[in-house]
Amino acid sequence: MRMTVLASGSKGNSTVVSSSRTRVLVDAGLSCRELLRRMAAVGEDPSTLDAILITHEHQDHVAGLAVMARRLKIPVFFTEPTHRAWVRMLTPRTTMSYAKWLDRLEQEKALKALVAAATHAEGAGACNADASEADGELAGRADKFSAEMELPVEAELAGLDASAEADCDVEQAAAPAAKADQAFLPAVEYFSAGRHFSIGDIAITPFTIPHDAADPCGFVFEAEGIRMALATDLGYMPPNVKQALTRIDVLLLESNHDLEMLRDGPYPWSVKQRVLSRVGHLSNDATAEFLAKEYDGGAAYIILGHLSESNNAPELARIAAERAVGDRMSLLGNRILLAEQATPLAPITL
Ligand SMILES: [Zn+2]
Ligand SMILES: [Zn+2]
Repeated sequence: MRMTVLASGSKGNSTVVSSSRTRVLVDAGLSCRELLRRMAAVGEDPSTLDAILITHEHQDHVAGLAVMARRLKIPVFFTEPTHRAWVRMLTPRTTMSYAKWLDRLEQEKALKALVAAATHAEGAGACNADASEADGELAGRADKFSAEMELPVEAELAGLDASAEADCDVEQAAAPAAKADQAFLPAVEYFSAGRHFSIGDIAITPFTIPHDAADPCGFVFEAEGIRMALATDLGYMPPNVKQALTRIDVLLLESNHDLEMLRDGPYPWSVKQRVLSRVGHLSNDATAEFLAKEYDGGAAYIILGHLSESNNAPELARIAAERAVGDRMSLLGNRILLAEQATPLAPITL
């Protein structure tokens, strides 16, 4: 089995999990173009992907989803509430308060200025590339101010998806109706937390995680006697998550923030409260506490993920986890890696 983390953090998450016969993409939180670029960089062939699996509908997990699924013509696995929330997110809102409307008008203006500036910089011909850059910048801004909260700016991002598609969907064969429907997917499959299902020869157990999304899930993947798990975007470690994360060989676990850095950091108070809450994100301390007290010590690799760029430092996350694992760390077991936002991690094969 192999796990390749393409990106991890509040600007985009995506991981390839594969057996020798089956390959799934878990989350598609970067643009389609960037996902393809990163897959090529680590030797993962997009044309062999069998499905996309979604943990939850926050923008940093779905930004490139529709374009990627349409481009590769592969099914997307959601829980039903997550799918519904995602479709709602992409559907233009018809009613809004006057204040919200004004707000939105301002954002549209800013967005146009941003795209126009980028277009001028490169000349009018290269508008696809420019739009996707603007997209990235906006994603960064959205992250900074909302830390994944659903803000109107997400609708703007969804709107930009159409131009991203122009450069990523090489075939351009999608029916006009499908193109107009941003939430159109080649196929949708539903799963439910707690119920096992399979994609090819990979057995998957989704488990509920405490996070402020419609129906967020982590996953355990099992094939060829190897078990890999992914648990990011959770406010704390409830018993069902601890229970799910047993006998895991490769564990991708959130270590989002350093508590002091978050308290003293740039986020507005309300966002700090949200991150710290029971439906926010795991701190280095919370992750370390799990690793020290509950974790069974059986993994070959522990990958720390979804590190905040504003409220964490990779070395702080690493030191906290290393202390917690203590003398169980060796050349063969409990090796600690840090997933990054900007670059993919080398594939981990067991
Ligand atoms: Zn996230
Ligand atoms: Zn999230």
